Parts: sequence; C-alpha cells; structure tokens
Amino acid sequence: MFSPQTIKKDFPIFTYHPARNATHSVAGGPDLVYLDSAATTLKPRVVIEAEKEYLEHYSANIARGLYPLAEKATEKFEMVREKVSTFIGAESAKEIIFTSGTTDSLNLAARLLASRLEAGDTIITTAMEHHSNFLPWKELAKKNGLHFRVIPLTEKGTIDIEILKNTIDERTKIVAFSAVSNVLGTINPVKEITTLIKNINPSTIVVIDAAQAVSHMPIDVSEWNADFVAFSGHKMFGPTGVGILYGKSSLLNTLSPVTFGGGMVIDACADETVYKEAPYRFEAGTPNIGGIIALGTAIDYMKSIGMENIQKYEHTLTVYALNRLRETFGENIHIIGPTYPEKQSGIIAFTLSTIHPHDIAATLGEHDICVRAGEHCASPLHKSLGLHATTRISFSIYNSKKDIDKCIAILEEIQTMFSK
Ligand code: PLP
Repeated sequence: MFSPQTIKKDFPIFTYHPARNATHSVAGGPDLVYLDSAATTLKPRVVIEAEKEYLEHYSANIARGLYPLAEKATEKFEMVREKVSTFIGAESAKEIIFTSGTTDSLNLAARLLASRLEAGDTIITTAMEHHSNFLPWKELAKKNGLHFRVIPLTEKGTIDIEILKNTIDERTKIVAFSAVSNVLGTINPVKEITTLIKNINPSTIVVIDAAQAVSHMPIDVSEWNADFVAFSGHKMFGPTGVGILYGKSSLLNTLSPVTFGGGMVIDACADETVYKEAPYRFEAGTPNIGGIIALGTAIDYMKSIGMENIQKYEHTLTVYALNRLRETFGENIHIIGPTYPEKQSGIIAFTLSTIHPHDIAATLGEHDICVRAGEHCASPLHKSLGLHATTRISFSIYNSKKDIDKCIAILEEIQTMFSK
C-alpha cells in the first residue's frame, strides 16, 4: 500500500505556499484538505508537465502535417488511444472516441443512436443519474416520441432490479445507468445488470456512465459487455476538456457520423462523401491534443500506483469516514448512500441536523476544507429523497485519515455554532 504523504508530493497544489498573511489558502498549500475529487481530481506534476511539454515543444496539429513535429504530435496522440483502450479493457483502440468530457460523450451517444429509434420505443435510465446521463436521453425521447422511464432506487440507494426487470421489453432500445453514483457512492454491479438487460432483450443498447468509476477501481468494458461507456479525463488526474466515449466496434461500425468537418473524411465533393472508419469518423475538427496527451500520462500515473491499490486504499478511507461520522454525530447525521462499504465508493453525501449544506460547505471552506454542497447535478435523485441539498465529501489517493479527522472536527464546531 502507498502512503498519502508520499503521493501528496506528486501534486504541486499541496506544495504551494500561500502568502503569510492569507487567512486561508485560496491557491492551495500544505494545509489544504481536498475532499471534492468527485467534482474533479487534482493534477499530478507529471500530467501538468506532459501538457506543457506538448505546448512548448511540439504543439503541431495531428493527422495532417507531414513534418516531424506534426508526426510526433500524431504519434503521441494515437498512443493515448492505445493506452485508454488497454486501461479499460477494450478490444481495440478503434473503440475509443475522444470527446471533451462525459457530458459530451453521452450527448454524442444519444445523437449517434437517434436514427435507430422509432416513435413508441423506450429509453430507460435510473433515479441516481447525473444530469449528463439523464437529460440527453430525456430530450432524445421527447423529440422522437419515445417513452422515457426512470427506474427508482431501493431504500439502500441501489437500482431496483425487480422494477428494471419488469420494465424492459421488446421496445426497450436503450438502458443508460452509472457504474458509480456521484452522490450516493453506490457501486452498481454493471456486468450483472447488463447481462440481465441483454437476457431480456439482446438488442438493447447499454450505456454506462463511468465518470465516477475509472480512477477509483479497475474496470473492464469487455467484461461489462456494455455498448457505450463514457468518462472524463479531469476526474482521473488528467486535464479538463478531455473525455472518452468507448463504443463496441460491432456497434460503431454501423453508425453514421453526426458532427461534420475536417479530419473525418477520406473524400468529399458536392455529390458524395466518403467517411473514415470509426473512431475517426466521429472526431471532426481539432481535438484538445495537449490535454489528451496529458491524459495518457495520467493513465501511466494511475497504473504506476495500481488500480487495485487505489481501490483498497479509498475503501479504507470510506470505512473510516462512515464509522467516524456515525460515531460523532449519531442520529444528527443522515448519510444517504448504501452505507455498507462494499457497495460504496469513496463518495459520502449527508445532511447534518437542520444545517443548510451551503453553510456547512462555506464554513469548511474557511478552514481550507473543500467539499461540495447542493444537488450535485442530480436533481431527480434529491427530489426522490425529498431533499433540496446534501453535503458531499469524496476521496482520492492524496487523502488521509487526518483529512477526515480535520473535516469532522470542523463539522462538530459547525454543529455547535448552528445549534446556538
Ligand atoms: N456523470 C457523472 C456520474 C458525474 O459525476 C459527472 C460529473 O460530476 C458527469 C457525468 C459529468 O462530467 P463532465 O462534467 O466531466 O462532463
């Protein structure tokens, strides 16, 4: 197992020294307690350097130029496609489409699938989805006269499998659900759910939002047998503005592009256009080249630590935090996840007494403790729980039990302060 103290040294944000008279470190520093990795992870130095190196030393466009700089950029860029493919267990690098993030990936999947749908078909999603895996499907259904079904959750914050089973029928064209909930932390058994769906209707397209899974546990999209899998680079130690849409080759090769422009055609004239094969036909225009190259470095970084090690370590933090929160606050805390750690990733959302989550987050912020408060882009989930907002803490490899202790100590002060 690794030590968070050593890991912290890899992240420049923790070594930044704020001005002496600063009351709190608005620009990071050694006292920073960052408990908001579900929003975005911090970036290790190697990732920052990789993007900088591209920008400073070979910032040519890709797949166009025939001079050495452009060839180097293209080669580095395409190497990342290979890296992503191996990292997530895809069968081929041709199954990896670069996008600008999970939101872009899921919207792209929805647009790609639109032509396969007919009025009266059904799209299914769940009550735990982030808006990015909810709204594109809802809009697609609305525009095409489709039924849009939202599977409710059990009391334990898991997808109600019985209801899902009874909802799928021969008109079910798409089922979209997340691998890990960004609020409850629920780890869904993706392979089992996909098998269940395909046993009932083998032609159903299964779309997985893996935004909260990829940097926290080993994943294998081939084993999942999902048709599309979406995730973001910035939640896996990479830069913002980079995302992935994995698509099964057998599916991608049957789909027509929905965005048109440079880089995706073999030949074009007024009468006819010949598109490149997948995934290039889905990548019109110049991508975030430096960001994608740096994402490759982020993958190397995670692999050097080991995904099993990351999963195990974050699990110990989750168990520790759940126990300490319960011990400290008893009945005053309401944790909304499954709360049995084997089903819960390092995301814990809660309400504390009647204190507004915004007050909690703002006060923690004054102590250099970063957490998120609100609906976390999961309005349907909060509505289904009768809540307006929750406070969310989320872990990554640079967190320690000390961070949790510090957060809980300030939460105790907040509780006292707001009960006066
Ligand atoms: N899906 C889930 C589960 C998320 O947690 C997020 C971001 O928080 C997204 C989708 C959207 O990701 P992005 O904003 O990077 O597109």
